Amino acid sequence: MTVESAQSGVAERLTVVQRSIADAMKAAGRGDVCDLVAVTKTFEAEHIRPALEAGQRIVGENRVQEAKAKWPELKAEFPDVELHLLGPLQSNKAKDAVALFDVIESVDREKIAEAIAKAGEAAGRMPKVMVQVNIGNEPQKAGVAPEDAAALVERVRALGLDVIALMAIPPVDEDPAPHFAALKAMADGLGLATSMGMSGDYETAVAQGARWVRVGSAIFGARPPLAAG
Ligand SMILES: *Cc1c(COP(=O)(O)O)cnc(C)c1O
Repeated sequence: MTVESAQSGVAERLTVVQRSIADAMKAAGRGDVCDLVAVTKTFEAEHIRPALEAGQRIVGENRVQEAKAKWPELKAEFPDVELHLLGPLQSNKAKDAVALFDVIESVDREKIAEAIAKAGEAAGRMPKVMVQVNIGNEPQKAGVAPEDAAALVERVRALGLDVIALMAIPPVDEDPAPHFAALKAMADGLGLATSMGMSGDYETAVAQGARWVRVGSAIFGARPPLAAG
């Protein structure tokens, strides 16, 4: 595929994903809202622009440095874009993250929440946050252990941060539905929404009540494997 045709496919694939979300909402009998976070990591501005021109306004990136390199320019063009940070955040990047992101989905320990709160106060701009839960209890995966999630949400709220949801990525080799259901139940108990579901399983996540789904490759195409994180 040429670069041009890869880009021109973006708006069409975006429409397909939006329709699938609407269909899954209908099939689940949901009358509430599920928003699409279009995950633009590894893609250049020219590849992202067709999605923005088609009206997509919620986008996600994994790395602060990468987002800093491309989003200030795109945000100048599309000022009402809402940018979500999906990848792990280090305390020394909190200042940059707060300057750029509207929602930080990957809060999984008190220390990083403190860094966000401090940077937000200094900047006079406080992002909303989600608490990332390691819903499958995987040793290598980011996220707070499910049994510690409620306590972390309390501590993050006590720092003055607006916690809006729980976020999770279920184990790749398991049926995601029970993990989505578990996250939803946990979120309901805490008065929170959920961010769950990616290209391979977002319809399942919608069926399980996702408030946000995060979809990248189904819209923008395959990423180089090493850059996928
Ligand atoms: C990359 C990524 C996504 C999107 O993944 P796709 O499979 O390309 O849809 C969603 N959430 C997080 C946290 C990611 O890192």
